[in-house]
Amino acid sequence: MEEEQDQSNNAQIMNLEVPYHLENFIGGELLAPRGGKYIDNYNPATGEVSGKIPESDAQDVEAAVQAAQQAFPAWSVTPLEKRFTVLNRIATLIDENLEALVLAETNDNGKPLWLSRRVDIPRASANFRFFATGIMHFATESHQMEDKAINYTLRQPIGVVGCISPWNLPLYLFTWKIAPALAAGNCVIAKPSEITPVTAYLLAHIVREAGLPDGVLNILHGTGPSAGEAIIQHPAVKAISFTGSTRAGARIASVAAPVFKKLSLELGGKNPNIIFADCNWEKMMRTSIQSSFSNQGQICLCGSRILVEASIYERFKKEFVERTRQLTVGDPLDEHSRQGAIVSKMHFDKVMRCIATAKQEGGIILCGGNVVQLPGRCANGWFIEPTVIEGPGPDSMTNQEEIFGPVVTLQSFQTEEEALQLANATQYGLAASIWTQDISRAHRIGAAVQSGIIWVNCWLLRDLRTPFGGMKNSGVGREGGWEALRFFTEAKNICVEL
Ligand code: NAD
Repeated sequence: MEEEQDQSNNAQIMNLEVPYHLENFIGGELLAPRGGKYIDNYNPATGEVSGKIPESDAQDVEAAVQAAQQAFPAWSVTPLEKRFTVLNRIATLIDENLEALVLAETNDNGKPLWLSRRVDIPRASANFRFFATGIMHFATESHQMEDKAINYTLRQPIGVVGCISPWNLPLYLFTWKIAPALAAGNCVIAKPSEITPVTAYLLAHIVREAGLPDGVLNILHGTGPSAGEAIIQHPAVKAISFTGSTRAGARIASVAAPVFKKLSLELGGKNPNIIFADCNWEKMMRTSIQSSFSNQGQICLCGSRILVEASIYERFKKEFVERTRQLTVGDPLDEHSRQGAIVSKMHFDKVMRCIATAKQEGGIILCGGNVVQLPGRCANGWFIEPTVIEGPGPDSMTNQEEIFGPVVTLQSFQTEEEALQLANATQYGLAASIWTQDISRAHRIGAAVQSGIIWVNCWLLRDLRTPFGGMKNSGVGREGGWEALRFFTEAKNICVEL
């Protein structure tokens, strides 16, 4: 208890204020964009411009690459204990400044404050802590050829690498890339989404305070076509770790592949939530509400296609719709709101278009489907009712295209084979949930569903050591644990004849 008291007294609360004009972080300095261009940043809950962010271009990327190249020789040979210490210190500072980061994330993204506090920001510090300790245990292989030779593998840092992340879990996914890249000894040019840049901006203050050497991490702001393209096109950026849409992933691959950059792509999903009649009903119901609508359905892992065994379909439909109706859509700052705002006007319009398409395709809106008009400060914010749709067939656009909003569809199946067929009937292969008490069936379906991540009787239960990523159009490569440290290093085999 005394120790707890001590620790809280020692907590270092930094002055993490968000200025109206954000700045890039290059070579340890906060700098205006060289081209002088800024774009608007919005608070989705109010619809108002909350500030301006640099629209960085090739000049800023060039400066960042130079800073990273200068920092690389020293950082790449910095002892592991020292890398551990500084990355761990970043994690501690994130924890100590939780509330400032939570508020910034919610104002920028529109997600409920409690969600930023419970999930997003704690996970950002967990990412740093995990890879800080991970690098201390990262071992390389050795292969002995009887009495002829011994091979050993070096895993060396790549050099300057690019990390580009999306808006749905802003600091969470930004740090999920940066932490392993830095732990492995690389210098990083990182770009958060232009839609949610603020916590990445605040991270610059934190890493400086933690003692990360100048130039080891450079954070640039701006849009994909300007800042993002300049990062992926720069010849000195040797690897790109990207999370975002399948469309942007294809574009990035087309630039990076011909010049043989190492690529990790975490892309879109259209994940099945497969429910068998023998499931644990209450647990399945509670979790399915979360896997459908957490973060307004804007999680790549959300189960947007709910497949239900025919014998329980009507019961499921009734209860699921009732529970969905109880999700309060409200001001993200209000602790009672279960659902916050949609991240941008553009995305709000897209989700509403998808709902209109579902109706045109013969879908029946069982609940939701409408814009939510809130009073007071959120009167001009972007809010949509959680929506449940029944009807369009498996080949409809509604069941094929990623909506990435608070919208799920219901389909029923008669047999295990039909469930599997429906589950695999999209171009995506990111995640799936399976609800059954039949252990053999769980293993069978788990092995046969074409997804990189399968949850049996749970959802979003994450062990950071496990491989994370998708197959088919959901991505290339895996993040997490050793996979991430392997991605951010070059393997070099040395064969020594005995
Ligand atoms: P997006 O592809 O529009 O943007 C993602 C990031 O890429 C942003 O920082 C953007 O500025 C940048 N970007 C866009 N075009 C670029 C280009 N040509 N060159 C370089 N950078 C470019 O995606 P989004 O709308 O921000 O995020 C939502 C998408 O992300 C959804 O499809 C979702 O499924 C996916 N996602 C996937 C995962 C996963 O782990 N697989 C996790 C979260 C989100």
